[in-house]
Amino acid sequence: MSQAAKEKALSWISKNESRIIEVSDKIWEFAELGLQEFKSSSLLAEELTKVGFKVEMGVAGMPTAFVATYGSGRPIIGVMGEYDALPGLSQKALPRKEPLAEGAPGHGCGHNIHGASGMAGAIGARVAMEANGIKGTLKFFGTPAEESGSGKVFMVREGLFDGLDAVLSHHPGSMNTGGLSSSLANDSVKFHFYGISSHAAGSPEQGRSAMDAVELMNIGVNFLREHVIQEARIHYVVEAGGDQPNVVPAYARSWYLIRAPEREQVDQIYNRILEIAKGATIMTDTTHRVEFVKAVYNELPNRVLSELVVSNMREIGAPKYTEEEQRFAREIAKTITPESKRGSLRKTKRPGWEKLMDIDLDQSVPDAWNEGEVSPGSTDVADVSWRAPTMEFTTATFVLGTPGHSWQNTAQSGMGIGHKSLIFAAKTISACVLDLLTKPELLKKAHDQFEQKLAGRTYKSPLPPDVKPPLGLWSK
Ligand SMILES: [Zn+2]
Repeated sequence: MSQAAKEKALSWISKNESRIIEVSDKIWEFAELGLQEFKSSSLLAEELTKVGFKVEMGVAGMPTAFVATYGSGRPIIGVMGEYDALPGLSQKALPRKEPLAEGAPGHGCGHNIHGASGMAGAIGARVAMEANGIKGTLKFFGTPAEESGSGKVFMVREGLFDGLDAVLSHHPGSMNTGGLSSSLANDSVKFHFYGISSHAAGSPEQGRSAMDAVELMNIGVNFLREHVIQEARIHYVVEAGGDQPNVVPAYARSWYLIRAPEREQVDQIYNRILEIAKGATIMTDTTHRVEFVKAVYNELPNRVLSELVVSNMREIGAPKYTEEEQRFAREIAKTITPESKRGSLRKTKRPGWEKLMDIDLDQSVPDAWNEGEVSPGSTDVADVSWRAPTMEFTTATFVLGTPGHSWQNTAQSGMGIGHKSLIFAAKTISACVLDLLTKPELLKKAHDQFEQKLAGRTYKSPLPPDVKPPLGLWSK
């Protein structure tokens, strides 16, 4: 049954290719920042409503987050879609740097494709469910602000991912595979320091400098670096440090990001940083307030779902490119130095990566090679992966070696190469969802692997209860 259902889903996607591409291109043009994705989320929700999904808009305190549901009963399979853009990455669909609007946001991480591939994959599966009498529930999660607000963590805290049997999503990348590396857990925290202003020359003894506290805290943390695990990453910026030097700063603020491979490691480092901040106030006779912005877990990869994705990708077949697309790719490749490409490929640790030096677009579908590796970034997909077996796979959207969050990514996400990645990913999602709905033994294996990775640990939201989604992030 699964085979006939898959054919049904895949042919629906092929037939509706131009509409699916149109949705992706519109979101690419909207290029809305995190938690401002009103047009993008409405467009996806409308498409899902048209084909019989029941949409609940504005979930978990975020107007641009939604859940679209089709069917009933078990199993319950989730598909996620992101649609937030990045500031300053506006770019035309051209292989040379040329913004659509100077300084405006752009889809430099390809989340227009992320949202559209999830939507189309879910609809393809839904069409086949009806045609082939397949039971179960399909949920599409419209997940805003991956880049800036970690929207999924709020959705997980709300319980929206409870009881799911498996969750899939697709992220544009430069290779076609179901990657198995984990990601770093992190905390994002602001430290507000309060002192007393005074004439810095005339009466410094009456002043207490909040900026001194910021500096002493940073010094403390910089000494702490030697006594944390090697893999930890701690970075900060000073957001406010006084107005002019002849006034002792009564207010100063720093913003910290703390990352490590495991949630509990971040917690330990964070607790030490809290003590250092306190120490800085004692040294400077100031006071402070800690503002917890957001946090994510580390990702728990699932090998069973990775193998499922790879086998469906191979069955569907990776995209072939037109001469025009190849030419576009060659132009993009010229903007990346060989050293930069080599560094980026080496970092993937893919066996035989050296052979990819002469290739622009990867058309192979390798098995995931990176189990046990930790990629140095963070994602809110991680929190979902602690609630249900989860897989975020990639399809080739970008020329090999293209830096992440770049104008080149924006360009490629809005033209033929990105469109092919989108359709390939949508078909892969449909096929995997149908396998998961119709093969209980597969779901059980994925669940066993999930339990093994959890190793008896339970997920506790990394967000303090009073932390709300940062809705006003871009209005400051
Ligand atoms: Zn992304």
